[in-house]
Amino acid sequence: KEKINIFRKQHRITVHGADIPDPIESFSDLKRFKVSQTLLKNLQGNSYEEPTPIQMQAIPILIQQRELLACAPTGSGKTLSFILPLLHHLKEPKKFGLRAVVVSPTRELAQQIHREFVRMNEGLGLKIHVLTKAKASTIANSKTNHFDILVATPNRLVHLLQQDPPALQLSSVEWLVLDEGDKLFEEGDAGFRDQVAAIFQACDNPQIRHTLFSATLANNVEEWSKLHLDNVIRINIGARNA
Ligand code: ADP
Ligand code: MG
Repeated sequence: KEKINIFRKQHRITVHGADIPDPIESFSDLKRFKVSQTLLKNLQGNSYEEPTPIQMQAIPILIQQRELLACAPTGSGKTLSFILPLLHHLKEPKKFGLRAVVVSPTRELAQQIHREFVRMNEGLGLKIHVLTKAKASTIANSKTNHFDILVATPNRLVHLLQQDPPALQLSSVEWLVLDEGDKLFEEGDAGFRDQVAAIFQACDNPQIRHTLFSATLANNVEEWSKLHLDNVIRINIGARNA
């Protein structure tokens, strides 16, 4: 335990919560969670050689299916921190309907997340879509929901949910990831609190796991996670929090 605390300190990882999984030191540590050779190969193929601090701590937490509030600066590698555990858990395409939703405040960021998913999905064959205007009608009309992961902005997703009848079913969603939490929960018109609330509510599978990533630990972000995340673990990278 002492060794782990020293390791966390070295990488400026602060954690709060109960029964926190140990961080990984390298991507090869993922073998102990039976992460597939395909995923490990895709890490190498994308020149992800060593995990960043947020990845060291967030990946084992999400692999063990804990709910998480993760705060780490822009550019610190938050995207892979949720992509890798999601691909690990979803494993292969299934036709049970949508199994993971990632919400991002802007289209540009949603596209970036989608591209990183696609690169890491090589050889896995999961069906991953980004909800663009052009694709909205295809996604809404695909009665059998032949896709596994959807990356979307709050407005476009809520637009589908609020059609009568809803153009999208989220009851099969096992993972809801909220990215850029500080932007999503911004006060006033800039924020997406109502939209996130509608999405959260539509994901009504009792087995669902929620996770929230943010560049800063804004008050809104912390409040939301206290109210909505179950037995939450909080990670802060970098600046020490009071
Ligand atoms: P954040 O979401 O925290 O702002 P990103 O996930 O967008 O950061 O990552 C920033 C950049 O770092 C991206 O170009 C990404 O591909 C790269 N990156 C992420 N993790 C690693 C890693 N372990 N090794 C090398 N590059 C990485
Ligand atoms: Mg990001």
